[in-house]
Amino acid sequence: MIKLSMFQSGEMVMGRWPGSSLYYEVKVLNFNSNTQLYTVIYKDGTELELKEVDIKRVSGFRQSGGRSRSRSRSPSRRRSRSRSPGRVTRRSTSRTMETRKDARKEPKVKEVQEVRLSPVVRALWCFLLCCLLALSVLAEPSLLPPGAFFMIFLLPTITVILLLMCSQKDPSLMNFPPALPSLDAVWDVQVFGLVVLWFFFQALLYLLPVGKVVEGLPLRSGKRLKYRINGFYAFILTALVLGVAHYQGVDLSYIHANFLQFSVSAMILSVLLSLYLYVRSCWVPQEDLAPAGNSGNVIYDFFIGRELNPRIKSFDLKYFCELRPGLIGWVVINMSMLVAEMKIQKLDAPSPAMMLVNGFQLLYVADALWNEEAILTTIDIVHDGFGYMLAFGDLVWVPFTYSLQSFYLVNHPSALSLTWLVTIITLNLIGYFVFRKANSQKNAFRRNPADPKLSHLRTIPTATGKSLLVSGLWGFVRHPNYLGDLIMALAWSLPCGFSHILPYFYIVYFTCLLIHRDARDEKQCRRKYGSAWNEYCRQVRYRIFPGIY
Ligand code: NDP
Repeated sequence: MIKLSMFQSGEMVMGRWPGSSLYYEVKVLNFNSNTQLYTVIYKDGTELELKEVDIKRVSGFRQSGGRSRSRSRSPSRRRSRSRSPGRVTRRSTSRTMETRKDARKEPKVKEVQEVRLSPVVRALWCFLLCCLLALSVLAEPSLLPPGAFFMIFLLPTITVILLLMCSQKDPSLMNFPPALPSLDAVWDVQVFGLVVLWFFFQALLYLLPVGKVVEGLPLRSGKRLKYRINGFYAFILTALVLGVAHYQGVDLSYIHANFLQFSVSAMILSVLLSLYLYVRSCWVPQEDLAPAGNSGNVIYDFFIGRELNPRIKSFDLKYFCELRPGLIGWVVINMSMLVAEMKIQKLDAPSPAMMLVNGFQLLYVADALWNEEAILTTIDIVHDGFGYMLAFGDLVWVPFTYSLQSFYLVNHPSALSLTWLVTIITLNLIGYFVFRKANSQKNAFRRNPADPKLSHLRTIPTATGKSLLVSGLWGFVRHPNYLGDLIMALAWSLPCGFSHILPYFYIVYFTCLLIHRDARDEKQCRRKYGSAWNEYCRQVRYRIFPGIY
């Protein structure tokens, strides 16, 4: 059935600018009944094809906008972004919102903000952003109930602010998004469906009976839970499925074009999951609760997580969320940014900067999945309950804020000289070597202190029966694994150049996190190992964050 067009040729309407919540005054040129797309022309002469949902009548728009205002702005270099569902966007047929004229002409189009923010609100946003670093550090079991309550709202707010800021033409720290996004820009039922589908697809891969089954550390009850190690297989299978989908015409840049909607959908999913986790924790035996999340304060326990290892039969929800949907999702998001960059910047191949960011972070994720077993001895799995903090971290924070560099590069190209390129690669390799070697050395030592491969390393005994490494990387500096991680974090941001601080968000946040983690671990180890730890500190004097605490 041929659908009739709602808007007529020559009519002046408000057209949504691709990938944003901003509407501009445009003139309808024609309607293609086959593609169901309107060709519209902006005041600067830029022509785009828009879907009907992205067009509003001028009168209706002003009425519904209420406080709407206009202001001039030139979205130079921001060209088209496809919002059409991936399934129908074969390269040859993908004409949705395609810019027909060269947008390099610095178009001057009129922008209408749906809810313009007052300077007071902007100042508040600034304050919230500043709070992030301090509070991210506090997002640990030592957090107090008011802090937990604050964090429940602060984390999603910060995520949305970061994404809005990064999608601006000028993503300076003080250039806060001038308008709150419209409902359209944050919610899309199809996107939510895709996020849920992604979650269940990864769950299906987790259930595949491939890969070895290992035991975790003993629980308080003495029981040891079994875990299937098949994360790397899930990663490969996901890559194959996405590869096939790409060649079938699925356009990965759809994620970039709807990035905010994807993040909000993931937030909703994480909240639903956290509610489920909290409710089910009310029925589990006391011994299955995490000590830190069993304070009796509903908000605090909801945030920190009550149940230590929530499982549906053998399906371990925490273990699954730690490495699968979010971590693999991070790589998929990066790939989407890469495709979007080629499309928007009209490149035949991704830029070197984009390739570096993608390559480095791919290595990090692949490494985590390859060494999946190592997660079974981490604080997250052994000590922390599964609640909002981890659910949000795993499903939203990691995939949507750790991919900020590639998101930034889509609209903010960064040229790299060969020397600089080689320097950044070298830096990442050094970081990776230190990170991997340190973690592997410690893991191997903790699993089997008598391992002949480690016989060359010097150790000091402790009263607990465990020993401490005082040579190799652990004898060079305390927490060498943090050092390697930090070096890599720097290498992930450097490809974005020095025009803005936003792509350096990860390293700033991560430094704060590690400072706090380092201090917490230092305290715990001193309590655990007493004089042996003092002796370790005497022999290994260097710290990554000397004199900070
Ligand atoms: P570690 O893996 O460093 O674990 C710390 C523990 O190691 C100590 O409690 C102690 O436990 C043991 N240890 C300390 N010193 C020695 C020594 N000299 N010899 C032997 N054992 C020692 O900490 P994390 O779990 O915090 O970090 C693991 C990795 O994950 C790191 O590389 C970190 O950078 C990374 N990470 C990444 C994050 C991200 O968002 N990208 C977030 C958090 C961590 P014990 O003696 O009881 O065995």
